[in-house]
Amino acid sequence: MIEVSKKCIGCGKCVPVCPFAAVNMIDKLAVINEACTLCGACVQICPLQAIVITREEASHRDHSGFRGVWVYVELTETGDKTHPKKIKPVTFELLSAGRKLADELKEDLCAVLLADKDRGYAKELGAYGADKIYILEHDELFEYNTDIFSTVMVSLVNRHKPSVMLYGATIQGRDLAPRVAAALYVGLTADCTGLAIKDGLLLQSRPAFGGNIMADILSPDSRPQMATVRPNVMKLSEPVHGRTALIVREAAKIDKSLRRVKVLERKMSHGGGGVKIENAKIIVSGGRGMKTKEKFRQLEELSKLLGGVVGASRAAVDLGFKEKAHQVGQSGTTVSPKLYLSFGISGAVQHIVGMKASDVIIAVNRDPNAPIFNVAKYGIVGDAHEIAPRLAEALKKK
Ligand code: FAD
Ligand code: SF4
Ligand code: SF4
Repeated sequence: MIEVSKKCIGCGKCVPVCPFAAVNMIDKLAVINEACTLCGACVQICPLQAIVITREEASHRDHSGFRGVWVYVELTETGDKTHPKKIKPVTFELLSAGRKLADELKEDLCAVLLADKDRGYAKELGAYGADKIYILEHDELFEYNTDIFSTVMVSLVNRHKPSVMLYGATIQGRDLAPRVAAALYVGLTADCTGLAIKDGLLLQSRPAFGGNIMADILSPDSRPQMATVRPNVMKLSEPVHGRTALIVREAAKIDKSLRRVKVLERKMSHGGGGVKIENAKIIVSGGRGMKTKEKFRQLEELSKLLGGVVGASRAAVDLGFKEKAHQVGQSGTTVSPKLYLSFGISGAVQHIVGMKASDVIIAVNRDPNAPIFNVAKYGIVGDAHEIAPRLAEALKKK
């Protein structure tokens, strides 16, 4: 419920920020009409806190009208002027996982795209399983902005009432999802590594207590049930080209004054040499067992010969063998390359959780009982400092 209290002095600031023209000034007082989606934008802007939204206790809410599994479509810049933005791969992973959830719930899988311009994204979204695509185009959506995107997202959720809502656990998703959850007064499970349906509810699994146990979380009182999922965790399904989705065009009036943060300048960070291990097809990773920074360099050569990227355990990063951008694992990057070669890594659960989705894992460790061998397809018990250069020599000969 939304109410304007007697504190209102009729300054009118709340009128332009409402994306749905739900505020009118009548007799010099703000009056809110039925177009209101409870997005909260006017609450934030009112200098006198004259607008109050009260929400029902979660356990008292009626969940019957909530249907559909929603996936937030994240766009990333390409640097190419003709195609400046493309869909981030995590979106397709979420659609692949979301498809199974939607089938089990017998509900629609919907993709939600907020952008300045629709550049024909529907084809790909449909191919990865979306039944419906909500598209909201607006000039103010030219780049991600917390205030604007969360306001629009909240209003779409209030309008269409999905039962499940998934975001990538990316910088953007980790910023947007909690804002939306707080505005809607619902829960959010961050960094899920598994999603399923149990008794009609979303079963959200994620590592807890430093990765030592897996927690299964249900949100019986929350609608939508919201989760973020790390990139490279969910298996990508095969796209079905030619599969089409229903496009639903949404509209909203977005006022510039909602944007509290303005980006003045962008600079690319080159820490880690601009490395992107999350998309690498081949990763040659090293751990504490590599002993020194100099010896760790053996892996650089090997990785170059294989056309791959160097990864590292947290211990190797802490010891300064490699920059943080190369760290694989729970507090680093989750990867799923075709080939993951590990040298001198024990296989702690926090490391495994970030690389176990790799197609083929080859581990080298001098301890035959090292846990890394439990997830490796091929294991070599031996000295990494001997095996890495020998492998490099063999590759050079080829
Ligand atoms: P160690 O566990 O010390 O293992 C070294 C291995 O090298 C041993 O198995 C040894 O047998 C082998 N070895 C030694 N010499 C040789 C040799 N000459 N040849 C071959 N093998 C040799 N870790 C991560 O990696 N990524 C994360 O994102 C991450 N996040 C974490 C988050 C939390 C909240 C916590 C609590 C921990 C996290 N960790 C993470 C740390 C993790 O628990 C381990 O401490 C770390 O992964 C160990 O790194 P390591 O395998 O390189 O070192
Ligand atoms: Fe009234 Fe606040 Fe709106 Fe100003 S911003 S008109 S004080 S409700
Ligand atoms: Fe306020 Fe949002 Fe409702 Fe408009 S839609 S009146 S901005 S809460």
